[in-house]
Amino acid sequence: MPKNPEESVDVQPRLLVVSQGVESLNYIGVKRVGEGFEMDCEVKAEAAVCPSCGSKDVSVKENVRRVFRGAPLNRSQVEVVCQIPIVKCHSCRKTREVDIDFADKKKKYTKAFYSYFIKALDSTSITVFNKVFGVPLDICYLAFTDYLHQEYVSNKISNVKEIIIDDILINNGDIGFTIVMDLETKRVLSVGQGHAPDALDEFWALLGPREAKKIKAVALDPNASYVSSVASNLRNASIIFDRFHVEKLMDQRAGLEKKYIFSSSSADQKYLIEADEFATMEYNAFMDPQDRLDLLREITEPLTLAFILHEDLARIWRRQTRETATNFLTSWIEKFIDYDNPIVKQMTECIDKYSEEILNWFDNKVNVKPLQDFYKKVAEIDLTIDKYRDIDYYKLVFLGLHDPKIIRAIDQPPLWW
Ligand SMILES: [Zn+2]
Repeated sequence: MPKNPEESVDVQPRLLVVSQGVESLNYIGVKRVGEGFEMDCEVKAEAAVCPSCGSKDVSVKENVRRVFRGAPLNRSQVEVVCQIPIVKCHSCRKTREVDIDFADKKKKYTKAFYSYFIKALDSTSITVFNKVFGVPLDICYLAFTDYLHQEYVSNKISNVKEIIIDDILINNGDIGFTIVMDLETKRVLSVGQGHAPDALDEFWALLGPREAKKIKAVALDPNASYVSSVASNLRNASIIFDRFHVEKLMDQRAGLEKKYIFSSSSADQKYLIEADEFATMEYNAFMDPQDRLDLLREITEPLTLAFILHEDLARIWRRQTRETATNFLTSWIEKFIDYDNPIVKQMTECIDKYSEEILNWFDNKVNVKPLQDFYKKVAEIDLTIDKYRDIDYYKLVFLGLHDPKIIRAIDQPPLWW
C-alpha cells in the first residue's frame, strides 16, 4: 500500500526507482533521512517463487527487512529498504529467501550503487566520493575491493616470457609481500604474503606447468629463498640477477658496513658519523687537525671503498656481449678479491658467487624499469593497515596498480577537502 510518499520529498518516484534499478519491486514510498533518502520497497507477490526449483507453489513464511546502499541521486545518498519474503516451497519442500535481481544479498549495496561508484572512479578518488556523496567509507572500500577482485584476481596467465620477482614492505615495514611482475605487460601477476619460498606457491599454482615452460627469463633478488623455488618450478628459465637487484645488494652491504662502523666506534666517532656529511662537520677546536683527519679517514674508508666497488662494478652493464662482460667480471674479481680489507673481500666474494646469474643478463637483457616504475607508484600511496584496508586489500591494489583508474581511486584527497 503506497503511503503518501512523494508529497514531502522533492523527488519523482519513477526517477528514484529507475536510478536504483529496482523496477522489479513494488515501490512503497520514500522519506528524507538526514541529507539523504530512504526508499521502501517490497518484492512483488508474483516474484515470490522458490529460489531452488523455481516453483510458484509456495507460501510466504515471513519477510526479512534488508537495507542496501543505493546510487546517489542529486548528490544525496539513497538507501533502499526492501522486504524480502522467505518462502516454503510445496514442490521441493525447501524454505528459502527469494532471489532478488537488484543486489547481491551478501553485499551491503545495490548493483546500481556499484555501477555508479565504479563509473565515478573514472574521474575521482574514493575519499572525494565519500565527501561529495556522504557514502560511508566502509561501503566505498567494500565496493572497491569487490571491483579489484573481479578485475584482477584469477586472471589467466598466458604466454608470459619474462618476469621479475621482488619483495616489498608495507605498513611501516612490518608486512612483507612477494610480487611477481610480467615485464612485458608491466602487470603484477601475483602477490604472495611474506618472503619465504612458499610466498610463491600461489603463483606457481596460478601459472601451471604448461605456462611455466614458456617463461624464458626470471630477474630476481639474489635471495636464496626465491632462487631454489624458481629453479625447481621454472626449469626452462634463465635466472638473472639484474642490475637493479645487484646494486640493491651492494647498497645493502654498504649499509651494513655503515651500521658496523657505527656500532664499533667510540663516542667521538659516533658524533662524526651522525653528522653523516663529513665535509660539513662542525669544527672540533679541541682536536688536533691531523688526528681529526686520521679519524675521519679511519671511519670513512670502509664505506668509501664499498661505494667505489659499487661504482666500479656498474661499468659491467656497459658491456655489449656476455663474452666481454665475462672478461670484465673476471678481472674485476681478480682485482679486488685479495684486497687487504675485509669489506672489499666480502663484497667481491659475494659477486663471485653470483657471477653466473649476473652474466645471464647478457644473454637476455631484461628491462626491469617496469618494477622501478611500480615502486614509484607505491611510494605515492598510503600503505597503512586500518579498519578499511587490510592485508588482502593491498594484495589486490598491487595487482591493479598498472591501471590509472586504481591509482586515481586510492589517491589522497586534494588539500581543499
Ligand atoms: Zn522449490
